[in-house]
Amino acid sequence: MYTVTRDRPLATTITGSLPRPGWFVENLRGRAFLEAIGTDYRYREQYFDAVAALVNDQVRAGLDIVTDGDMRFDTDIGGRAWFGYLFERMDGLGDIGMRHGGSEWAARPPGGGEAAEPDDPAAARVNVPGDILHEVMEARLPARVLGEVGRGSLQYDAVFRAAQRLTDRPVKIGSCCGQMVHKVAVNAYYDAPLEAVMAFSRALNEEYHAVADAGAEILQVEEPCLHFVEGSDWEISLDEYVDAFNREVAGLRDRLEVWCHTCWGNPLAQKIEANYRYRPILEYLDRLDVDVITFETADNGGAELPEIAAAIGAGKKICIGGVTHRTLQVETPDEVAALVRRTLEHIPPERLLVSTDCGFGRQGMSRMHAFYKMVALCRGVNLVRRELGLPESPVPAAEGRYDFLSR
Ligand SMILES: [Zn+2]
Repeated sequence: MYTVTRDRPLATTITGSLPRPGWFVENLRGRAFLEAIGTDYRYREQYFDAVAALVNDQVRAGLDIVTDGDMRFDTDIGGRAWFGYLFERMDGLGDIGMRHGGSEWAARPPGGGEAAEPDDPAAARVNVPGDILHEVMEARLPARVLGEVGRGSLQYDAVFRAAQRLTDRPVKIGSCCGQMVHKVAVNAYYDAPLEAVMAFSRALNEEYHAVADAGAEILQVEEPCLHFVEGSDWEISLDEYVDAFNREVAGLRDRLEVWCHTCWGNPLAQKIEANYRYRPILEYLDRLDVDVITFETADNGGAELPEIAAAIGAGKKICIGGVTHRTLQVETPDEVAALVRRTLEHIPPERLLVSTDCGFGRQGMSRMHAFYKMVALCRGVNLVRRELGLPESPVPAAEGRYDFLSR
């Protein structure tokens, strides 16, 4: 159900991750979140100060919905923690860091289905020493599924509370989708791949309901596998992935606003598909039991906006990416506004939301780049709001009242 975006046309947010403040040098290193903030003074202080700083950055930038910057994630390689946080904490997973037989793992990179497909140059890059994606995958250290999968010590409810108590703005907590965790893990327990996928769905559904119990108004499930396996001969069908996703979010729309994030990858800000196109999977995305679907649209200049608008039914809102996480060049407010205006030719403002294409990550760009991209996003959306007679969201960073350069 709509909560935080009800009556908020063109509401703004980011996907989730922000670059860490330079002084936040502690890591969970496999510990449960509550253990770390409950027993380790240095971690606790740095964690809470970091989340407070990043929430403040987002408020200064003018975002309507904020995140905790994914500060629970360790500073490992190429965004591995997005999976790794779950690998290290869910029940039934183990053997992290063991060699699972190189070929077994190399055949299962996120994105591209089979890495060796000759017609998929981006996926094939994983197998080429000297390619940045090769180093990303070399360091990914997947888990092996060794027993019944359960939610373990994810503690998303505590992660949510830790951030929401720092701000009046709604905090959006996100999680890597269960089917994506399955796709990059190595199943050594379940007889059938689908059985394993559904086990991840059930476990995460329990976890998300705990986040609703904690009082969250919004939750984001990140990356169904649909667009990464479409067109490949993968062991799970698109219909099965839709069913698994809907099991993962079952019952949640009665309790909070459910978002589904989609993009084309983010390891070290790289695209992991060569020719990305949403078109073949739009009908499947429309069957997901969610309130909002996000699309990566800034990086490709809104190439598929008409198709996206036509395929996603009126029961869902569409969230476009107004800035990209792949470039260091900060977009201008005019560029953001132009993309929003083009989207409004196909989608009414009450169904349109604006975010970033994906998270800003931990190694892709500096905190300052991410900050000014957020400011540009909000200034650009405000330009359009003004034209439409909609209330603008304050952007304190752009007010200049106490500017050092002003006389
Ligand atoms: Zn993403």
